[in-house]
Amino acid sequence: MHPPFAIRVKFDLLKVGHCQHPECAALRGGGRRAIDFPALVGLIEHPQRGLMLYDTGYSRHFNEATRRFPECLYRMITPVTLPPEEELLAQLESRGIRASDIETIFISHFHADHVAGLRDFRRAKFIATRAERALCEKKGRLGRLRRAYLRELMPEDLEQRLQYAETLPQVPLPDAWRPFEAAHDLLGDGSMLGVDLPGHAASQLGVAFHADEPVFLIGDACWKIEGLIRDKTPSRLAYALFDNGAAYDATFAKLRALHLSAAAPLIIPSHCLTTWRERGGSRRIQRDR
Ligand SMILES: [Zn+2]
Repeated sequence: MHPPFAIRVKFDLLKVGHCQHPECAALRGGGRRAIDFPALVGLIEHPQRGLMLYDTGYSRHFNEATRRFPECLYRMITPVTLPPEEELLAQLESRGIRASDIETIFISHFHADHVAGLRDFRRAKFIATRAERALCEKKGRLGRLRRAYLRELMPEDLEQRLQYAETLPQVPLPDAWRPFEAAHDLLGDGSMLGVDLPGHAASQLGVAFHADEPVFLIGDACWKIEGLIRDKTPSRLAYALFDNGAAYDATFAKLRALHLSAAAPLIIPSHCLTTWRERGGSRRIQRDR
């Protein structure tokens, strides 16, 4: 067994579009004014396994997939802003990275704002959880829409390139990650560990790794880091859209305990504007062409 996190990776946080919601949707008791919810993407460079992404954020495919009724309701409820310079392919290109250079994409869950760019990466292998994938394919067209799942965004050969986290070996997490105890070894070398974060969706793939510091990418298990600091969960209305409110609360409580612990990793919620402002925009990963 490989010791966890012996291999360090490089990590940059990218913003690939944003939508707006009232603050109180993300933080119970928060203001009614609309705030930005950036779609954050992790760009990771592993010394042997190359370039990887955690989610893809929005893309122009999202506009195409939400053109017709009833899918257009999605775009009406969450109007999306994606300036050309924020498109993921453009940001990668500015670093000398081609879509075909991306080896692996970790999919937190299949909500459209996390997977809208998958079709652009024809070579990449995907890693996601089986629990989430199985559920989102089962529902009818309206059921899928209610789950923020747009089948049109999926690459035709998704199944051939997709590996389920649950099938990968389970390993113990170091004590510093308590109360999280176990994870799946996503690459087989202890560098990238997958932690299930259920509740928001049927399941969610959180990814833990060491870059300059320990990092934990948590998808939508919490929307704003202030929620963990102030113990504020999202609005009741948001819970109506969650897969399982009790599971969400249990995951949230574990993340809060971890965040308050002495050796807490950098916890990155996928839509947190504060985290983006404090940690986004670095350029550690760059290729010469
Ligand atoms: Zn989501």
